[in-house]
Amino acid sequence: MKKTILVILLFCIAGITNAQAIFTKADTLRGSLNDQRDWFDILKYDITVQPFFETKSIIGRVTWTAKVIKVSNDIQIDLQPPLIIDSIIYSAMNSPQKNSTLSFTRDNNIAIANLTDHPAINSSFQLTIYYHGIPREAIRPPWDGGWIWKKDANGKPWMSVACQNIGASVWYPCKDIQLDEPDNGASLTMIVPDTLLAIGNGRLKKESKNKGWATYTWEVTSPINNYTIIPYIGDYVGWNEKYAGLKGNLDVHYWVLRESEAKAKLQFVQVPQMLKAFEYWMGPYPFYEDGYQLIQSPHLGMEHQSAVGYGNKFADGYLGRDLSGTGWGLKWDYIIVHESGHEWFANNITTKDIADMWVHEGITSYTETLYTEYYYGKEAGNEYTFGMRKRIGNDRPVIGHYGVNEEGSGDMYPKGAVMLHSIRQAINNDSLFRNILIGLNKDFYHQTVTTQQIENYISNKANFNFTKTFDQYLRTTQIPIFNYYYDSTQKIFTYQYKNCVVGFNLPINVVYKNNAISLLPMDYESKKRLFKIDNFNVKEFVKLILDKYYVKLEESKF
Ligand SMILES: [Zn+2]
Repeated sequence: MKKTILVILLFCIAGITNAQAIFTKADTLRGSLNDQRDWFDILKYDITVQPFFETKSIIGRVTWTAKVIKVSNDIQIDLQPPLIIDSIIYSAMNSPQKNSTLSFTRDNNIAIANLTDHPAINSSFQLTIYYHGIPREAIRPPWDGGWIWKKDANGKPWMSVACQNIGASVWYPCKDIQLDEPDNGASLTMIVPDTLLAIGNGRLKKESKNKGWATYTWEVTSPINNYTIIPYIGDYVGWNEKYAGLKGNLDVHYWVLRESEAKAKLQFVQVPQMLKAFEYWMGPYPFYEDGYQLIQSPHLGMEHQSAVGYGNKFADGYLGRDLSGTGWGLKWDYIIVHESGHEWFANNITTKDIADMWVHEGITSYTETLYTEYYYGKEAGNEYTFGMRKRIGNDRPVIGHYGVNEEGSGDMYPKGAVMLHSIRQAINNDSLFRNILIGLNKDFYHQTVTTQQIENYISNKANFNFTKTFDQYLRTTQIPIFNYYYDSTQKIFTYQYKNCVVGFNLPINVVYKNNAISLLPMDYESKKRLFKIDNFNVKEFVKLILDKYYVKLEESKF
C-alpha cells in the first residue's frame, strides 16, 4: 500500500517537473522581472534605425531614458541574435560619470551590462545601445515575426516589422516585457532612400534629406507597448481627415502604397464609422494626442498604436471570409474593426503578463459584436457572438503560465468574447454594461493591468461577484452544463449547473413570451421554479438560454 502511494507521489512530482521543464531560462528572463530588470522604470525609447534592403541588414541605436526605483544593479538588455551589440553608453543625470562605455556579456537573447556607477533612487539615467546586423526575417507575418523585406507591385522596396509574441527585441534593444511601457512614449527615426517614405507611430516630428537619404522622425507621447512601435517604409501616399469625436477633433491619417490608393479611399470610409461605434461603447479614442493612423502593412494587420497595420486587401470580412459563419462578419472590414478595437484593449489597457492576454484578444473580439450591434441591431450582435463558439477548442485554459512569457490558449479570442457576452446577459442592464467598458478605459487609462484587476472591476461595478464565472471560463476547459427537467403536470422547472467549478453561479436572464425570467444564484440552491406561463414549452425556453450563454444543455431528472 505504502509502496503504491510512493509510486503515485513520484509520478506526480515527475509530472509537475515535466510541466515546468517546457519553459527555458530564456523564457523566464523574458517573462519576469529579475534583479537586473526590476530597479528601473522606462520613461522613453528613442530609436534610430537604418535598414538596407539589398543585404536585409540594419544599423541602429536606441536610447533608453529610465528612472531608478530601487537600489540599482547590473542591467538586462533584451536583443535577440543574430543582432550584434556594438557598444553601450551609460549616462546618469546629475552624475560625474557622463557617457561611460559599459562592459557587457551576451547570453542568448539578452545582454547584461555592468554598471560602474550606481545612480540614486528617483534619479534618471540614459543608456544608448549601438547595434547592427541581419535581424531575423519574418516568414509568415504577423504570425511569426521579424523584419519584413518585400517589394510592391512597382518593384519598389516595402519594409516593415511584425513582432508580437516574438518580441520587439527581435529588432531593437529594449526591456522586452509588457509591464514596463515607456511612460513618456517613444520616438522612431528612420533613415531610408529618399525615393521612399518612412512612417512610424503617432506624429511626424522631423524630416530631412541628404545625399540620397531621407530621415524621418515620428513620435508618440503616450505610453506604448514595445511590440507596437513599428516602421513602415515604402512608396506610400497619404491623406488626412479630422474626426469630430468625444474629445474634440481627432487627427486621422491614412497611408497606403501608391498602387492601392483608389481602393483604400473607398474601403477606409469605415474608419469614422468604427470610431463612432467604439467611442459610443468604450469611451473616447485613447490617443487623441498622438492621432489615429491606418497604414497598409505587408501582412494581414496588427494593433500598432497610433499606426494600425492594415493588410486585409481592401475588402470586407477577414480576407473575404466571415469568422463567425453567420454572414454578419461580411458586412464590415475585420482588420479595421478588430485591430482598431485594440486601441482600447491592448494599447490603452495593457496586460502586465501575456498570460492574461484574453484582456486584449477576448475583449477586442467582443468589440466586433459591439460594432455589429451598433449598426445592425442587437440580434445581429447576438448571432455573430454565437457564431464564434465553433472556433473554441477548449484545448487548454485561456490564461497561460505567469512569468515565462507564455500566452494561454488561442481560445482567448472567441471564448473571451463569448464569456463577456454571457456576463452581459447576467448583468442584464446594457447601459451598466456599457458604463463598465467606458469605466475600464477611464480608470485604467494608459495603464498596465492584471486579469485580477479587470475581473474585480467588472464584479464591483456590476455589483455581483463573477469570480466563479471568470474561473470557469478563463482557468478551466470545461463548458458548464445547464441541467434541467420540466414536470409539465406540476409546472415545475428544476435546474442546476454541472461540470463546473464549485460555486459556479452565473445568473441567467432571458425573456420568454414577454416574461422576463431570472434564474438567480439563490434559486440554484432551491433548484426549482414554478412556471405558470401559458403553453410553456421547455425546449423553446432552454434554447433562449443556450443562445446567449456559453453552456451546454442537458435534459434529465436529478
Ligand atoms: Zn487581436
